Amino acid sequence: MPTDTLPNPGKNPARSTGELIRLEQVTKRFGDHTVLDHLDFSVDAGKHVTLIGPSGSGKTTILRLLMTLLKPDEGTITVDGEQLFPAPEKQVREVRKKIGMVFQQFNLFPNMTVLRNITEAPVTVLGMSKDAAEERARELLELVGLTDHLDKHPAQLSGGQQQRVAIARALAMRPQVLLLDEVTSALDPELVAGVLDVLRDIARSTDITMLCVTHEMNFARDISDQVLMFDSGRVIESGPPEKIFSSRSCCTAPSRRPTSW
Ligand code: ADP
Repeated sequence: MPTDTLPNPGKNPARSTGELIRLEQVTKRFGDHTVLDHLDFSVDAGKHVTLIGPSGSGKTTILRLLMTLLKPDEGTITVDGEQLFPAPEKQVREVRKKIGMVFQQFNLFPNMTVLRNITEAPVTVLGMSKDAAEERARELLELVGLTDHLDKHPAQLSGGQQQRVAIARALAMRPQVLLLDEVTSALDPELVAGVLDVLRDIARSTDITMLCVTHEMNFARDISDQVLMFDSGRVIESGPPEKIFSSRSCCTAPSRRPTSW
């Protein structure tokens, strides 16, 4: 499909430029376990940023904070110039609309068709007409290669197909930023490539901002403008993928490179 006919979530006149996400001095504790310790980082609009690092280093916690599924204990989170935390509930709801997330476990509504899974939130949350939401859903299903499956239920699809529906569902809300939390981890190995190809396409052909936790290093290298390497809730290295994945980086900083992801 030519790029200019893609249902580009970026074809939004209100889309921002410059810094889109900022975390300042964000601390998150679970009991006496400090998972994020005065973390600072920012993501510019349109950039694709990958978070890598060992299991338990706090990557998913960052995405969950941005989705407002968790609250920080300290610090501020700003999205598109508006504070997401701390902020009044009404503001949180508005800012939250700018963010879409795809989870490891798809989280589709099992009792709804593929089409309805995608149209439900645009109709109920954004107030789109059913027709407009369905038209958009069909475009997105084409983008993720599932036009033939719109009347099926999730259980009739493979894990890879379900995850592609989940990607379409997130994009249907026209988010400014797409959070991807190890979206291929729950898939059989033969289904991983299809999902990553769809995400590569979206990264290449839209201007949506992506913040991605992944163990797929080739994918991270392909799509990232910036890679943040985490260990114990801190960024221990950051830069473009060619720097982070270069053999020089491997050889000069072995003690700082976590080994267990
Ligand atoms: P990563 O994504 O890097 O694997 P997470 O952000 O999932 O790491 O988890 C970081 C740490 O926080 C882990 O030690 C994990 O056990 C802990 N953690 C995450 N969520 C919770 C929770 N809801 N309650 C208690 N501990 C949690």
